[in-house]
Amino acid sequence: MSLTRPDLDALPAYVPGRSVPGAIKLASNEVPYGPLPGVVEAVTSAISGVHRYPDLAAVELRGRLAARLGIDPERVATGCGSVALFEHLFRVTCLPGDEAIYAWRSFEAYPIIAATTAATSVRVPNTTVHGHDLDAMAAAITDRTRLVIVCNPNNPTGTAVRKAELDAFIDRVPADVIVALDEAYREFVTDPAVPDGLVEYGDRPNVVVLRTLSKAWGLAGLRIGYLVGSPEVAGAVRKVVTPFSTSLAAQAAALAALDAEAEMRRRVDLVVAERARVVEAVRKVFPDVPDTQANFFWLPIGEQALDFAAQCERAGVIVRAFQGDGVRVTLGTPEENDAFLGAL
Ligand code: PMP
Repeated sequence: MSLTRPDLDALPAYVPGRSVPGAIKLASNEVPYGPLPGVVEAVTSAISGVHRYPDLAAVELRGRLAARLGIDPERVATGCGSVALFEHLFRVTCLPGDEAIYAWRSFEAYPIIAATTAATSVRVPNTTVHGHDLDAMAAAITDRTRLVIVCNPNNPTGTAVRKAELDAFIDRVPADVIVALDEAYREFVTDPAVPDGLVEYGDRPNVVVLRTLSKAWGLAGLRIGYLVGSPEVAGAVRKVVTPFSTSLAAQAAALAALDAEAEMRRRVDLVVAERARVVEAVRKVFPDVPDTQANFFWLPIGEQALDFAAQCERAGVIVRAFQGDGVRVTLGTPEENDAFLGAL
């Protein structure tokens, strides 16, 4: 007899991008430029208070996020990374047997979360050009569906759905089913046809938007993300959040990072310029790289994925292989990207 659930054996573990001393890491969709100005100071000064619990409700931070977005703080929940907020969202929506629909391939945490909460995963294969098949996702909705996730831009393929198709999709989702827009990479979007979920759908009670400070805002190591939804949904998420999981340091760092928005935008612009340059060069070797709106791109090289990543590693560059499917490469500094192109 096993002490833990027997179905865990069959569950794939979350695979983090590998860090190898001395190698260039282009494997975890991080931004390569270090913490934003003011963050180290804010965290250092917060440290003297760590014998006390942080503010459970993250009132100041939620207030700041809400003010930036022009919404009521009651509509915001913070969590230990947006991945934790996804777990909470599954828990507040799905009872045993309820279905959560998401595209595949997409963010690898969705199936892990679904399998260990009550939800049943319904995976809808991506189109042949590696984007969400929103028609098929809408057609997959049943009377057991409680949650539909649209990852926009999609990790790991970088593809993004446009406003016209997302409008039509959301119109097809019943009012009692939540549409979760995973916008972890929103800050890197440059195509004006790709909708900002908060601007376009923020007033729909069944739409929630999840964002993170891990990527463009450079706080991956401190774990902080936020969810915006109706007061009802955001309140339910706050209710089930692991108490105090948004740490003191994370809250202080997030406030400082938000103060440095202009610098964040400057860094994002550098990444976006590199995206155009690097993808153009990579397409000379792999013409099928899909258009990307994120800070990474996708090499749809199927069975070659593991071998390709191993060869990059021998050349000192760590990329992320998805066995049998493809390789995701995060954009780094120009020098790091040149090292990847050299390896290629
Ligand atoms: N959503 C997507 C699509 C992601 O790629 C990630 C991070 N890999 C997350 C959510 C979670 O980010 P975090 O937990 O660091 O906020």
